[in-house]
Amino acid sequence: MPKNLSVLGGGVDGYGSAIRKRENTRGRDLSYPPLPEPLTVPVYDNHTHLEISDGEHPLSYREQLDRASSVGVRGVIQVGGDVETSRWSAAAALIEPRMLAAVAIHPNEAPALEEAGTLDDALAAIHELAGQPRVVAVGETGLDFFRTPENGRAAQFRSFEAHIRIAKERGLALQIHDRDAHEAVIDTLLRVGAPERTVFHCFSGDADMARLCADHGWYMSFAGNVTFNNAARLRDALSAAPRNLLLVETDAPFLTPLPYRGRPNAPYLLPNTLRGMAAHLETDVSLLSAQITANTELVYGRWDAEPVTAAFAGSDDDARPEQAPRGGLA
Ligand SMILES: [Zn+2]
Repeated sequence: MPKNLSVLGGGVDGYGSAIRKRENTRGRDLSYPPLPEPLTVPVYDNHTHLEISDGEHPLSYREQLDRASSVGVRGVIQVGGDVETSRWSAAAALIEPRMLAAVAIHPNEAPALEEAGTLDDALAAIHELAGQPRVVAVGETGLDFFRTPENGRAAQFRSFEAHIRIAKERGLALQIHDRDAHEAVIDTLLRVGAPERTVFHCFSGDADMARLCADHGWYMSFAGNVTFNNAARLRDALSAAPRNLLLVETDAPFLTPLPYRGRPNAPYLLPNTLRGMAAHLETDVSLLSAQITANTELVYGRWDAEPVTAAFAGSDDDARPEQAPRGGLA
């Protein structure tokens, strides 16, 4: 598990509840930012972690999605990072029409699993989950040379390559986590053969890399950090990326867009990032939303392509067990 997260109770039966908690609370404002002005043309958040609770008054995933709906964020891709959170993601997507799931072992998880001799079991579990309904992507997978030292990289490569193969075998999109590993990620994709729909989640390359991704038809998903003052290089990449390969995400609860940097992030804050992108591109917000929504549906399909499972579509109470962290809607 990524450091600065802790395990909460609940598990996959606790559909309303988060199963991870963000621990980094020092010096941060822990209140959720206010709702932005609603978008006229709805969009999707193509990368979020609703299994991770954050803030002084954590929100259940349904409260998160209700807030998102109220500002024109129509749906989310809920992303797992280990077997347990991937199971949670797949299970929640099965009962929630606004959610589709991505499943994977995060690159920073792979080394510890390899050391424990359980990486192959974990990959087998991901392979199985990737075959479930409403699981539309394999991710987040990739390489992270920032947080994983040299001695963990062989495991990262092995895990990344296995995930690429799973995505291709299952016919799913691939969501890539690339931190300080641009060249190695690109080399691996070219060596193993990239899936037809490949997405760089939280794109962090420069304009040259954006052009290279464009040459291969790889999608670039921009997160709240594109609004940060020190992100001029990232905004140059945004300018260089063809509009038909653009996606947008929150990576919530992390990477909260300006002017709320450091506070808990949530899918309902996606309009802030989108408006920042539109302003930089000197384009109309609705035009950009319409383009990104079309791109998102080409990558993942429609949110109603596979039905939610009626057996789980119970009342709100069924979906919110007592142990769920509850927070009132402000
Ligand atoms: Zn993520």
